[in-house]
Amino acid sequence: MPVKKSISTTSEPAAPVKVGFVSLGCPKNLVDSEVMMGMLAQSGALLTPNSADADVIVVNTCSFIASAQQESIDTILEMAHHKSGGKAKRLVVAGCLVERFRDEIRKNIPEVDAVVGTGELHKILSAAGVASPPRPASPFNILTSDSLSDVPASHPVTSRPEGDHRRSQGRFARDTWDGAVADLPNYLYDDHTPRILTTPRHSAYIKIAEGCDHPCSFCIIPQLRGQFRSRRFESVIAEAEGLAQSGVREITLIGQDTTCYGEDLGLHDGLALLLEKLAAVEGLRWIRFLYAYPNKITGRLLDTIAAHDNICSYIDVPLQHASATVLKRMKRGGGADLFLRSIEKMRRVIPGVTLRTSFIVGFPGETDAEFEELCSFVNQAGFDWMGAFGYSDQEGAGAFDHHAKLSPREIESRRKSLMSIQKKISKARKKSLIGREFDLLLEGPSSETDLLLEGRTAMHAPEIDGKVFVNDYPAGHEPKGGEFYRCRITAAHDYDLVAEIV
Ligand code: SF4
Repeated sequence: MPVKKSISTTSEPAAPVKVGFVSLGCPKNLVDSEVMMGMLAQSGALLTPNSADADVIVVNTCSFIASAQQESIDTILEMAHHKSGGKAKRLVVAGCLVERFRDEIRKNIPEVDAVVGTGELHKILSAAGVASPPRPASPFNILTSDSLSDVPASHPVTSRPEGDHRRSQGRFARDTWDGAVADLPNYLYDDHTPRILTTPRHSAYIKIAEGCDHPCSFCIIPQLRGQFRSRRFESVIAEAEGLAQSGVREITLIGQDTTCYGEDLGLHDGLALLLEKLAAVEGLRWIRFLYAYPNKITGRLLDTIAAHDNICSYIDVPLQHASATVLKRMKRGGGADLFLRSIEKMRRVIPGVTLRTSFIVGFPGETDAEFEELCSFVNQAGFDWMGAFGYSDQEGAGAFDHHAKLSPREIESRRKSLMSIQKKISKARKKSLIGREFDLLLEGPSSETDLLLEGRTAMHAPEIDGKVFVNDYPAGHEPKGGEFYRCRITAAHDYDLVAEIV
């Protein structure tokens, strides 16, 4: 689900314009926020975590499903108060909601001064009214870039034949959307783009690709983010090296579909090649990727994960459903038997692999039998982590015109019952870890109670999986956030673990 993140950074007193930033949605959107913040800071803006103190407020929005759109609108309206009754002089709206409702935002929320789509990140400076020359020194963790002229306006055009074909068939068309600009987003940052990390110092996301070519009938991300395009191989490695040198120990590769990485650059098994290279970067202790497409998980990718200690034995593969008939209507393909065989192979090649997936329940026309098939599959597959979303109607998605829509009540009831199945599985799997030892990346004091510390093992991706609460450590050894420790699991809850540092 979308995450609302009020971004906190240190600031420089002499900067002329104070900019407050609110980033909503997924880690891919967070990286966009970090890039825009880097551009702003590089050009002399002062970033403030306090919206009430900002001259300019930027809301980077999410438009994934109806609830995310509503949260985005509520946040824009909340921030608009700082303009009508507070200090702010400008309000900028960025991100996916702009690609979807560009004109309507301007029309219905007059406090909004400028909008910046997902393909226009380089326009954040003029949108925010920040145009001063680059500063020679900055207190921020700006990764690179000598001057703003280095900020690319667009990525060199690369595409996959599959994407070109789908484009010719209208997959990316958005002419029915009021005010959507004709050009599809094509922006992609690189290792020369300024970027401010907002994640803990030891952990960072790297976006390796943008856009998506798949035809999933419930999804409008391709229209919001454009055709699939990969960052240059060397650019990703250079960014990872820079991050490692600045103290980052964990990197998480993201994109709408990381397993397509490099296909537009002419690479075969591009993600496996990239992981191999990244595994050799000094200082990186945990490397993982999220958002694999089921039929793109190759033998070479599994072998690569298995062969390197610093590539986490962790695969996140959103399957969306398990009934072959629903998957066909979703325009995804696959089915329970195929998925079970694939899971068996992942577990065979990577012993102890952690598996995460997510499903959409209540897709139009989903029968009781199809839902039962999904439940039975979840019971058989025994995922370590699982998310379930209720189907959300999106104008512009293929499924929007399907008949036989389920009621919101029925959708929510199915979502809850699927989650209750997973809760039992999760509890049993977590219980089986009691007594075993793992490496733990300590995050710091627990956000839930001052009495505990909390961290993650390689089985836990940042922000989405459960937590490991640490309630004991050897006397005289005060553990530090951002450091790795060996821990023993001493207790298990439904999703979280309790451990002692040994
Ligand atoms: S793979 Fe499917 S669900 Fe994922 S972003 Fe692409 S179209 Fe959307």
